Amino acid sequence: MSTYSMCLPCYTVGEEAYQAIPEFCHSFGSKAVVIGGKTAMSKAKEALLAGVKGSQIKITDFIWFGGDATYTNINKLKADARVQAADMLFAVGGGRACDTVKTLAALMDKPLFTFPTLASNCASSTAICVLYNDDATFREYFYRKGPALHTFINTRIIAESPANLFWAGIGDALSKEYEVEFATRDQDLFHTPLLGATLAHACAKPLLTYGEQALADCKAHKVSFALEQVALDIIISTGLVSNFTSGGDKYYYNSNLAHCVYCGATLVPACGEHHLHGEVVAFGILCLLVCDGNTELLEQVAKFNLRLGLPVTLAEIDLKTSDVKVIADKAVSLADWKAVYRPVTKEEFSSAILEADRYGRQLKNRRPDTGLGC
Ligand SMILES: [Zn+2]
Repeated sequence: MSTYSMCLPCYTVGEEAYQAIPEFCHSFGSKAVVIGGKTAMSKAKEALLAGVKGSQIKITDFIWFGGDATYTNINKLKADARVQAADMLFAVGGGRACDTVKTLAALMDKPLFTFPTLASNCASSTAICVLYNDDATFREYFYRKGPALHTFINTRIIAESPANLFWAGIGDALSKEYEVEFATRDQDLFHTPLLGATLAHACAKPLLTYGEQALADCKAHKVSFALEQVALDIIISTGLVSNFTSGGDKYYYNSNLAHCVYCGATLVPACGEHHLHGEVVAFGILCLLVCDGNTELLEQVAKFNLRLGLPVTLAEIDLKTSDVKVIADKAVSLADWKAVYRPVTKEEFSSAILEADRYGRQLKNRRPDTGLGC
């Protein structure tokens, strides 16, 4: 038996989440430097300063992360005297800002705390960092030993974030339960992925139940119970599952067919350049459910997508039926392709995409009052 460690996310959520900073950070020193996105820092600055007011923690500066999660930006920050002098790093912003500071903190061996200002992915609560080249192409994954020491989710700031990112975040998070289930079904799992597979079952229901209301509340910049449930689902639930189901080169159950559709679709410029990750993944889920022959869930998720304006057809993400070959050719080359409980053929996958599109078009054309099968 080998020895291993698991480090899991800790978090505080609510409108006053930043008031908990002193409680969770004080044992790591007194000087904190904030590194993040420009807009994110401008939105969070006042609340951050109010959060540390009267405590021993002092925010020494606010530094822009550089715009993308690249080694060029990480090395620039590493050489910055303000970063070197800090006892701890506060990462503020979306996925790329968090992944930059997550990598930086690991390389500098400094305590890290994250402050997501968007609910669009689980970057603020996972150990994995996605890094890019200077030309914005994907470079590599950087694996930290664990996620940030604590994540502070300020729901007031999330409610004021761009609604389209929240919308796409819902689409991406919805894939978690279905993909992990399709990867782990009938498998003998040991402790860690078993926990991941079990937690994955807590991901879809809150989104299907509260997603529509939460999106309306985000558009209205309103903090609500629904918004909080969905933000926790996107940031924490999927992050926990991701930490439990990705075991480096030992095991991987974290994503498969819906993300294969996304990765393949990014090769088609009309789609890749104009549509968000979670938006394309949301259509990918329908393809996965067709592949799985789960008509009941297909109907449920397709109707949910339709209500939220998430795609149910290829045309909505600027894809044509002739692009399906490009998507399938790419899909079979991905590690995700193999993270399935039973082999799926390229032909089966291609027909599932076409069938999902046909089903979606039919659903869109149905008049609301005519019901199923009309
Ligand atoms: Zn994703």
